[in-house]
Amino acid sequence: MSKLSNETRNVLRSRTKLVHAGRQPFDQHGFINTPVYRGSTVLAPTYESLFDHSLHFTYGTKGTPTTEALETAWSELSGAAGTVLSPSGLAAITLAMMTAVKAGDHILVTDSAYRPTRVFCDRYLKKMGVSTTYFDPYLGAGVADLIQPNTTAVVVEAPGSQSFEMQDVPAIAEAAHKRGLCVIMDNTWATPLFFPPHERGVDLAIEAGTKYLSGHSDLLLGLVSANEDWWPRLRETFDIFAMCAGPEDVFLALRGLRTMELRLKEAEKQALDMAHWLETRPEVQQVLHPALPSHRGHDIWKRDFSGSSGLFSIILQPGPEKAVAAMLNSLELFGMGYSWGGFESLVIPFDCSPYRSATKWSPPGPALRLQIGLEDTADLKADLDRGFEIYRRNC
Ligand SMILES: *Cc1c(COP(=O)(O)O)cnc(C)c1O
Repeated sequence: MSKLSNETRNVLRSRTKLVHAGRQPFDQHGFINTPVYRGSTVLAPTYESLFDHSLHFTYGTKGTPTTEALETAWSELSGAAGTVLSPSGLAAITLAMMTAVKAGDHILVTDSAYRPTRVFCDRYLKKMGVSTTYFDPYLGAGVADLIQPNTTAVVVEAPGSQSFEMQDVPAIAEAAHKRGLCVIMDNTWATPLFFPPHERGVDLAIEAGTKYLSGHSDLLLGLVSANEDWWPRLRETFDIFAMCAGPEDVFLALRGLRTMELRLKEAEKQALDMAHWLETRPEVQQVLHPALPSHRGHDIWKRDFSGSSGLFSIILQPGPEKAVAAMLNSLELFGMGYSWGGFESLVIPFDCSPYRSATKWSPPGPALRLQIGLEDTADLKADLDRGFEIYRRNC
């Protein structure tokens, strides 16, 4: 077997990339997978090598063959100049934002952002002298009107956490780059497989590896990838914070990486099957899934995304909280819990109204977010069917 040439590597399709990326078997005695390197100290063979920058690895916080394997693979998959790993998806968000802002700056953040992202802006960045303006996720190129002389970054997320608004990322990026802003995107839902972030104008892309990269609800991990422009600044921030991921989690994420496309495509198929079925249910008022033609952001999704994942939301017909509680308590297959992207189906009630500031969240009925796992959808439908009956009885 010969080593993958750069020429071959550059033309590989995503599934082949996922199998080969970040692996150097002959650096590991021929073993297929890069092992878990546990380590803080890295020995320098000579006095001179301490200072002449000839050592590839210098200290555990700066990287190991295990972390480098995932970073390399993720950059290849994302079309990025470089990637850093962090101990959680939220840590990846804060790392990306700390890379792009300084005291006195102003940033623009989509009103549909993951809630802990807002908390970071409202509680931490504010304290450090950075102000935030939230904007309507459907504003598109209109964000240009919100740019102030001290605005340095715009944070997007498509679709919106829980509420699933779509964003015209290329239009926002174009407007932002005209004024020298950094475009940061939380790309956890689509992953680089369904939305190549840097090709679409994103400077710093975040992924919660906790979700589809892991795929098994058994680890926490974050990734930030950067284009050429932002890579040196991202790497510098990463080295300053030394907010690095644990070796076992990185090893498990590498294992997840090899099957990520298979799992994601299956999740897509399963979720679409469930979403179409839910659209026919009398208990459901609205299905918030961007791949459905009924969704407000469907055209943006169709233009910019090559797939959809297993997470979407529904709005039920009006009913009291006790009916929602009775329904969710009756489910036997859908678990109630946060996070998503694993093999198992989940449901969680949500309400964005207390914290929205640029838009109003006032659905006509209770809202539920569904994560569709790898179970047989006939069984999932039977489970929800039972749940809906309880819901009706308690309305
Ligand atoms: C879960 C999630 C995160 C955070 O990931 P953790 O690893 O749980 O910290 C970030 N963004 C989105 C959209 C998420 O769903």
